Amino acid sequence: MKTWQCTICKYIHKGEFPPEKCPVCGADASKFIEIKAVIIPEKKALEEKATATINPKREEPEKKEAGKQDPVIKKTGIEKINALLIKHHAHPVLVHTPNGILPAAVILLFLSWISGYDLLSKAAFINLIFVIIALPLVIFTGIIEWKKKYNGALTLIFKIKILAASLTTISCVISLVWLLIDPEILSSPKAWVFMLINIIMIIAAGIAGHIGGKLVFKD
Ligand SMILES: [Zn+2]
Repeated sequence: MKTWQCTICKYIHKGEFPPEKCPVCGADASKFIEIKAVIIPEKKALEEKATATINPKREEPEKKEAGKQDPVIKKTGIEKINALLIKHHAHPVLVHTPNGILPAAVILLFLSWISGYDLLSKAAFINLIFVIIALPLVIFTGIIEWKKKYNGALTLIFKIKILAASLTTISCVISLVWLLIDPEILSSPKAWVFMLINIIMIIAAGIAGHIGGKLVFKD
């Protein structure tokens, strides 16, 4: 049995042939490579390392030469920061802030709408401020991760994720601005439109989060 890997999301498939479509990111069969081809250079590097340990003198001049023109050393400051953000999973860590606060804000708005208790919508407003502060960081780290880890692949799953993230941000801005302009919105006849925008926001955030989990855990 052969082992195949999706070059977009790194999903592993075992079988004689690659799957027609990647079950995680939706990439087609042409995006799969047989894993043997990936392991061979890694093995070679390990073997070279082992030889170098046995015979350290031989490796010394090579190392010096490599140090002179190593393109990795020329990494810019921004590239270094991006690599660090990916290494330490900045996107999934940051995304928990808005994803945790969003449902609380929407529940508070709903309770304020049905009870007419003004303080609840004020609490929701404050919660939404924290969401709007966190969102630029979440989107920024998300774009870095998408470009570096998935080469900016635009399969269906990524298109849906981008759309869901945009919808979350747009509806959050509308909701916040609307509350700022008209704090009495929940007691007006247009309250249902306002609530609908908030429900769209929470569904879109849920979809973006669900896809993120699918990409990370590959199930
Ligand atoms: Zn894939």
